[in-house]
Amino acid sequence: MGLIRLIIFALVIWMFWRLIRNYRANLDSKQRSGEKKKLPNGNMVACGYCKVHVPENTAIAHDDQWFCSESHRAKFIAEKH
Ligand SMILES: [Zn+2]
Repeated sequence: MGLIRLIIFALVIWMFWRLIRNYRANLDSKQRSGEKKKLPNGNMVACGYCKVHVPENTAIAHDDQWFCSESHRAKFIAEKH
């Protein structure tokens, strides 16, 4: 009786582990496809002035800040000093 219960217990754990593995694999693939849609050109960075997110390759860098446009960079510097 003890051995059968042990086998059943092991089977339940194995099935549960497989279920979790499949679920996590599904979640990972969904997250990866979502990221691809959201980030077509690499990292998104927040504008230091208006907080709008823009792709890093189109953003303008100043010190350790990013800006969506040249005018926002100028406004940020003007207000800072
Ligand atoms: Zn901006």
